[in-house]
Amino acid sequence: MFSFRLLKKSKRNKARLGLLKTPHGLIRTPAFVPVATKGALRGIDFEKTKNLGAEVFMINTFHFYLGHSYRLVKKFGGLHRFLGLNQPLMTDSGGFQVFSLGFGLAEGVGKILDQDRPVQTQGKNLVKITDRGVFFESPFDREKLYLDPERSIRIQKDLGADLIFAFDEFSSPTASYQYTREAMIRTHRWAETSLKTFGKNKTDQRLFGIVQGGEFKDLRQGSSQFIGALPFFGFGIGGSLGNTKTKMNEVLDWVVPFLPESKPRHLLGIGEVEDIFNAVKRGVDLFDCVTPTRLARHGAALTRQGRLNLKSGKHRQQKEPLEKTCSCWVCRNLSRAYLSYLVKNKEILGIYYLAWHNLYFIFNLIELIRTAIKTDRLAELERRFVQKLD
Ligand SMILES: [Zn+2]
Repeated sequence: MFSFRLLKKSKRNKARLGLLKTPHGLIRTPAFVPVATKGALRGIDFEKTKNLGAEVFMINTFHFYLGHSYRLVKKFGGLHRFLGLNQPLMTDSGGFQVFSLGFGLAEGVGKILDQDRPVQTQGKNLVKITDRGVFFESPFDREKLYLDPERSIRIQKDLGADLIFAFDEFSSPTASYQYTREAMIRTHRWAETSLKTFGKNKTDQRLFGIVQGGEFKDLRQGSSQFIGALPFFGFGIGGSLGNTKTKMNEVLDWVVPFLPESKPRHLLGIGEVEDIFNAVKRGVDLFDCVTPTRLARHGAALTRQGRLNLKSGKHRQQKEPLEKTCSCWVCRNLSRAYLSYLVKNKEILGIYYLAWHNLYFIFNLIELIRTAIKTDRLAELERRFVQKLD
């Protein structure tokens, strides 16, 4: 029921075309995975997003653990039925959110909680990490919670997504070499426990392992070697990728060569246009990101010339579409003036139209990338898209 097949490998770089088969359908790779954090995309629905080109969605386990909604989902027989979706789904392990909660609050990093309003914690660290798992307090109601590889996998089994992730420790981007190394060793142990809890004969789910190691070359290579040798279905590249695009590229150059050629690779939490090109060229098959819908909520549109900010007021009189070359319905029918007007008046429809265009933009880009890999013209395509992005 599950398979991953490579259809073509580029001669000029490490880009590849693949086909990931799941019981709920096929995913053509490279694939962009929209994130439906709490089981809902923001500003747009699943059906529309599917029609725009989404072949798989990512849902965050953390949010189904807080408040224990995963139990309700289990009663429904899993996320597919609960959400009314007959399509491939992924869940992450919850690790990213839990650990970001620790250093996010302590160091002011991390926008992980997005628009939710956590209770005031006055800089108190809500997370305690042990070698077995992690204790934390819900940022919303202070409930005391605990997550470890066993529990994360069990919750993900209850949620029933097609592709699930091993529990890992996401160490802070500011962590020292020594700490990052300890966290990586824990992640390796937890990868083995995740595999054990997942079991051998699951027919309706597959498990991805996660490579950690921060921004350190030897740790990244060691982690990739270790995790890459374990019998996972695919591999996630997690953790801090540095603050610069160059650093992300370096990390990918260290990690990818140690991962098995025949298995899918997922770069976690990346999806800016420039990052997509950089990751695809380095052999990444899947990436998830909230960018298209988040930008829409902030009144911004993705274009080949960079971001268009409709809040600025600059476009209030403009009859032209968001992007002249875009053939989405929004661009064929609506003016920047009307969209700016909707955004200014905080109309829900403004967010919806921007999310529609932004998702169309990304899925159209991915389609062009797939064609470019087929014809070995990825560099030309990149030059047309990455002009002056911020
Ligand atoms: Zn458009």
